[in-house]
Amino acid sequence: MPIVYLVVPCYNEEAVLPETIKRLTVKLHKLVKAGKASPESRMLFVDDGSKDTTWNIIEQYSSTNPYVAGLKLSRNRGHQNALLAGLMTAKNYCDCAISLDADLQDDIEVLGEFLERYAEGCEVVYGVRSSRDTDTAFKRSTARSYYKFMKALGVEIVYDHADYRLMGKRALEALAEYKEVNLFLRGIVPLIGFRSDYVYYQRNERFAGESKYPLKKMIRFAMDGITSFSVKPLQIISNVGIIICLLSIIFFIYALVSLFSGSSVAGWASLMCSLWFLGGLQMLCIGIVGSYVGRIYSETKHRPRFLIDRLIISGKTLPEDRPDPSETDSSN
Ligand code: UDP
Ligand code: MG
Repeated sequence: MPIVYLVVPCYNEEAVLPETIKRLTVKLHKLVKAGKASPESRMLFVDDGSKDTTWNIIEQYSSTNPYVAGLKLSRNRGHQNALLAGLMTAKNYCDCAISLDADLQDDIEVLGEFLERYAEGCEVVYGVRSSRDTDTAFKRSTARSYYKFMKALGVEIVYDHADYRLMGKRALEALAEYKEVNLFLRGIVPLIGFRSDYVYYQRNERFAGESKYPLKKMIRFAMDGITSFSVKPLQIISNVGIIICLLSIIFFIYALVSLFSGSSVAGWASLMCSLWFLGGLQMLCIGIVGSYVGRIYSETKHRPRFLIDRLIISGKTLPEDRPDPSETDSSN
């Protein structure tokens, strides 16, 4: 039975926390009783520098409820960093970790399904929303276009998946190899690879308190996603420069024609031609400089260049910590 850690980032969540702890305890206890999770499993609440009584609540419950564990960050570092802190801590104790929001918008009834996929040998399981009915029309359409835009920029991203996901120990160890500061987890996890699967769920409304993600934070998050994963915007500058240079040739012909047909003022043709050509050339040069900046940018990330899934030496497969599910007997 795997030791499961539920990692829950919390920022000013006093309004929902007691209820969340109650519901998660019931669910986790059921999973333990059903033999799907080890009794060593925990709910790890990460207090992301809350200004209210969130940490006191976590501390209080941890003294009476054996499933409750807490991690307190020194200050508010934002959802993604809080989540990473939780996952990196959990990885030292667990076999797999499932991240979810404190407001239980992610349906906890599918937790069992996550664990089933894990038992089948999946190292990453993505929670995917089966519909977006509970969203406002604005959020729905912006989210959809964002996913499409990211795809067009060549970023691998799972459609309608937020941060509700299971990661096995090996995936977590791989995640630790990604050293970037501007963190966009839903872009990094698909890069890790390993066997993965999806679990579909219905997203609920937040049952109390209010969203900690105002529009401003959301836009910054979206920009992080683009600039952390794609240098396409830099290539676009080069391409526009080339197009303008080509256009300047057409314009050059046009200017010559009007010069010889006598329909232009003296000096106009030469001025216009150099204006277009130089404009295009400058943009092309910026694009070339940009492509070097792009290289520097990817180098400074120190992302791992490869991650090993399996290694066979003298007929033995490593690592051996995950036995093949088909070989283990099902009575366990
Ligand atoms: N959160 C966090 N740090 C922050 C902002 C949010 O840890 O700076 C947590 C928050 O407590 C919640 C999760 O991130 O568990 C998602 O936030 P929220 O539900 O407010 O976002 P929404 O669902 O409205 O997008
Ligand atoms: Mg929420």
